[in-house]
Amino acid sequence: MSTKTGKETLQFETEVTQLLHLMIHSLYSNKEIFLRELISNASDACDRLRFEAISDSTLLGGKNAELKIQVEYDKDEHTITVRDNGIGMDREEVVQNIGTIARSGTREFLGQLTGDQSKDSHLVGQFGVGFYSSFIVAEKVTLTTLKVGLELDQAVRWESEGTGSYTLEDVKKARRGTEIVLHLKKDEDELLSSLRLRSIITKYSDHVPLPIEMREENDKGEPTGSWETVNKASALWARPKSDISDEEYTEFYKHVSHDFAEPLAWVHNRVEGKTEYISLLYIPKQAPFDLFEPNPTHGVKLYVQRVFIMDDAEKLLPRYLRFVRGVIDSNDLPLNISREILQSNKVIDSIRSGSVKKILGLLESLAKNETEKYQEFWPVFGKVLKEGPGEDFANREKIAGLLRFASTHRSDETQGVSLEDYITRMKPGQDKIYYITADSHATANNSPHLEIFRDKEIEVLLLVDRVDEWLMSHLTEYREKPFASIAKGELDLGEISDAQDKKELEEKEKEAQELVRRIEEVLQDKVEAVRVSHRLTTSPACIVLNEHDMALYMQHLMKQAGHELPASKPVLEINPEHALVRRMEGEQVEDRFEDWAKILFDQAILAEGGQLQDPAGFVSRLNQLISGIVD
Ligand code: ADP
Ligand code: MG
Repeated sequence: MSTKTGKETLQFETEVTQLLHLMIHSLYSNKEIFLRELISNASDACDRLRFEAISDSTLLGGKNAELKIQVEYDKDEHTITVRDNGIGMDREEVVQNIGTIARSGTREFLGQLTGDQSKDSHLVGQFGVGFYSSFIVAEKVTLTTLKVGLELDQAVRWESEGTGSYTLEDVKKARRGTEIVLHLKKDEDELLSSLRLRSIITKYSDHVPLPIEMREENDKGEPTGSWETVNKASALWARPKSDISDEEYTEFYKHVSHDFAEPLAWVHNRVEGKTEYISLLYIPKQAPFDLFEPNPTHGVKLYVQRVFIMDDAEKLLPRYLRFVRGVIDSNDLPLNISREILQSNKVIDSIRSGSVKKILGLLESLAKNETEKYQEFWPVFGKVLKEGPGEDFANREKIAGLLRFASTHRSDETQGVSLEDYITRMKPGQDKIYYITADSHATANNSPHLEIFRDKEIEVLLLVDRVDEWLMSHLTEYREKPFASIAKGELDLGEISDAQDKKELEEKEKEAQELVRRIEEVLQDKVEAVRVSHRLTTSPACIVLNEHDMALYMQHLMKQAGHELPASKPVLEINPEHALVRRMEGEQVEDRFEDWAKILFDQAILAEGGQLQDPAGFVSRLNQLISGIVD
């Protein structure tokens, strides 16, 4: 068919018909995306012309030089028109681009379809709906296009009702570019509203870096002859960093985050190479209200080639970075990518790991070079970051480097000690990083377990956030230095305890052998064993948990929450030099030995933030003991 003038009718490829049918049915609930797709195509067409014009500036033309997109509607005609002055298409290109699906894998794609609408709709999403999405709302689409450089009478008109065939016709067109007229289906009149169209445009296409214009309207709501730009028309993130002022970054942050406060910091990056994307990521100053809710919002917006794809794209960053806000703009993803596809997509994986690196890098640089900012960051988001080592194995060490703790090195509760700081203060021969978890700073700081460490001036990290037990179950070492809870397992101070210490301890153990046996007898239901302590200097006794046991306060919390915990008995360590313990060997205690042993155990539990099984019994035994001493 080579008649170039008359109107000719052509058949769609079978695939097109199939795809059209599918699209109309499966994407109806998302019908407004048609405008995004058409604007995206228009913007592409302008981008391509702009690119061509790099080598031939005459292509842009004098009065038509400003590339733009116009959206118009006509209530009487029931039409929406999307117009661009981009590159346009010649006849062959129209047939090629609009009449066929020239994409490889189309057949395979269609073969995968199941007929189940919800499953198919995200397959369609994966495939990319593009131009054909017009038929979701239109019963007929008329596309008129004039390729740049051709004569005005070399334009082409393509028209179709989306049911198997289309017509092509040579026409005249006043200027370069493409105009698409959607003749809306009967029930789609609600789209014929300035407000509606403007809101769709700002929702999805605000940052298309070209002006998207609509006609101004008069008092009666009738379109006038003058145009106004509806979108922001500039993708801030796509501009070179050097062009963007701090104020602009801040304004944009407020826009994407809906936060009134200024951001704490941001990192803006263009990644080129195998995957191409731009990321502009912010760390807020204040926590969003839902930070610790079960389903917090994730604040990263996904764009594909400047076109907004989705908010709250939780797959773009791991959960422990859910406080981050901003934009990621990919060049490689299909425009209609769905949440399901995000779950397992190589491009996303690569964007995600790159972005995590950027955020961790930003935090590292704050911690190092802008310490006041990091001190602002830590109390607000530290607890969230502490989820990191359990969630992001690959970055465990990096995240650990960002953690800040309270410690026995400081007199106050602030979490300001880094593992790096700790390591520089380790004693010669010390090979572990010591810590204790508790439900409050006071409990941790006054724990009897700290006594030997204070004695030997070994620093201990005081971990008092709920998440800390979880954190420490995933952090086993930092810079090859293992972590050790001072309240769990046998205490081995390694080379720090000298020969003298060891000899003294052996003697103490020998002397207290009988006492240990008797206490064990009393407490056999409650403890795994009783032993002479290495760690106590001023307290009479302490509870030592098994290596893998949860701290007592956590056990208590878990039980309250209705969790069954595996029964496991702690060890009771006693300090034979303590007056109370020494007295137990004396004759006057004889008949009250059992009570004393129980008191020893109960007060050790209390000191640990644990819960007594029989508090009244404890109080009564204690009262008797005190009365006895007073007598
Ligand atoms: P995609 O944009 O993913 O390529 P579409 O279905 O949206 O798929 O568009 C198909 C093709 O039609 C585009 O690649 C482009 O070549 C052509 N096209 C669509 N709209 C326009 C337009 N406004 N100007 C020029 N070419 C267009
Ligand atoms: Mg497209």
